[in-house]
Amino acid sequence: MQISLENLLEELSGIEVITNPEQVAKLSEDFAHFSPVLVPLLTGKVGDAVVRPTNENEVLRIAKACVKYNIPLTVRGSGTGNYGQCTPLKGGIILETLRMQEIKWIKAGLACVETGVKMAVLDKKAQEIGWESRMIPSTFRSATVGGFIAGGSGGIGSVLYGQLRDRGNLRAVRVVTLEDEPRIIELRGDDVQKVAHAYGTNGIITELEVPLAPAYGWDEFVVSFPDFMTAARFGQALGNSDGIIKKMISVHTAPIANYFNALQSYIPKDSHCALVLVAESDREPFQSLVRDFKGEICYEKSARDAGKGISLIEFSWNHTTLHARAADSSLTYLQSLFLNDPQLELVQRMHEYFGDEVLMHLEFIKVNGVVIPAAIQVVRFTTSDRLNEIIRYHEAQGVFIANPHTYILEDGGMKTVDYEQLNFKRMVDPYGLMNPDKMKAWQ
Ligand SMILES: Cc1cc2nc3c(=O)[nH]c(=O)nc-3n(C[C@H](O)[C@H](O)[C@H](O)COP(=O)(O)OP(=O)(O)OC[C@H]3O[C@@H](n4cnc5c(N)ncnc54)[C@H](O)[C@@H]3O)c2cc1C
Repeated sequence: MQISLENLLEELSGIEVITNPEQVAKLSEDFAHFSPVLVPLLTGKVGDAVVRPTNENEVLRIAKACVKYNIPLTVRGSGTGNYGQCTPLKGGIILETLRMQEIKWIKAGLACVETGVKMAVLDKKAQEIGWESRMIPSTFRSATVGGFIAGGSGGIGSVLYGQLRDRGNLRAVRVVTLEDEPRIIELRGDDVQKVAHAYGTNGIITELEVPLAPAYGWDEFVVSFPDFMTAARFGQALGNSDGIIKKMISVHTAPIANYFNALQSYIPKDSHCALVLVAESDREPFQSLVRDFKGEICYEKSARDAGKGISLIEFSWNHTTLHARAADSSLTYLQSLFLNDPQLELVQRMHEYFGDEVLMHLEFIKVNGVVIPAAIQVVRFTTSDRLNEIIRYHEAQGVFIANPHTYILEDGGMKTVDYEQLNFKRMVDPYGLMNPDKMKAWQ
């Protein structure tokens, strides 16, 4: 161990530290293995030690020690990010937040939590008073609130409430800086965007204030269709049906549903299908819509059984990719938005053009008040060149690609430098110690 790291750890007495190399290596990884492009870039990138603070004061001590000994610091929640976001590229300290689990307060429409509170735990508590998270990632059981805000984009609930970056979907954050004398800064209103989705490059989030939504009982259905475009149009029609309250519309071309082992006995083989969550009170109009599209409900789970067994949520978003890869590890994925395609013509063109090579998986979300298809396509990987060709073709046709095959903040969904985040980093992380090499603008 380097002398400076030894000194640093000595200064952290009373804080849990992990130095076992195997454990540290495990805690240096996330789900970047979804990408055959990222694997060779990230292999062997490990931290030197993991620290597990239990409160903000301990975070302040860790920040101060890292600055004093010039040691990089990478924050980690549950490590479910999928672009190597919490993999330390330059070693150093991994600050894991899972022991910071206090729900500070919760009231109608709002909650204040420590960063390491898991999304599922927050939801359970909120449901006791008739509320729930506006949106959750499909990793809700393990993902932390802080990790979702710093690394995620949206999820189940985005069809009603938009994406995390939309004004109102995060109310306040407390951040610890890596200055010579670390301090706590509270950001509210639009200022929260300075650290939201910044991969932990510009401040350690310790506490967040997040909005809640009224909790419904959610019925879960799988509806199968004879062809993919009917399933896609059904998804869009359900999205557009203002009188039917829904939380998730996840549409899959065949043979994706064949990868869902736990649903095999319900979903006919090679089905094109929609996995949906609909408010239990809206079951009847929902069934009428299914009839209009000649769909067949092949699986259902009533809201009364929520919490029992598996939820369809765990087959949506990037869980689709997870199940597909469990069946065939040569599969990878894309992330995209069809921003101006109300008739789904572009969806159809891409679906037909790539056929079996790029399997269409749509998640309907609200963008600027309009429900549109986002896609997390399952891709049969051959070479990196071919993958880039597929990405370029999509972009040339007008599909927005949030590239999941890069760990660079700006090269994913953002595309441009966010000067607000960069300027905030200049102030709170003047030595560039936080998650180094992830923010291109800083380099
Ligand atoms: C199977 C699968 C399904 C997924 N589904 C979704 C989905 O539906 N929607 C979605 O948006 N994402 C999804 N993701 C991505 C990921 O799950 C989410 O981003 C998740 O919310 C991350 O939470 P986490 O606690 O695991 O964060 P981590 O993976 O631990 O961290 C994510 C990023 O946030 C930073 N970070 C964590 N905590 C802090 C903090 N306190 N302060 C500053 N920075 C911090 C880390 O440094 C890292 O850059 C999925 C990933 C997988 C593998």
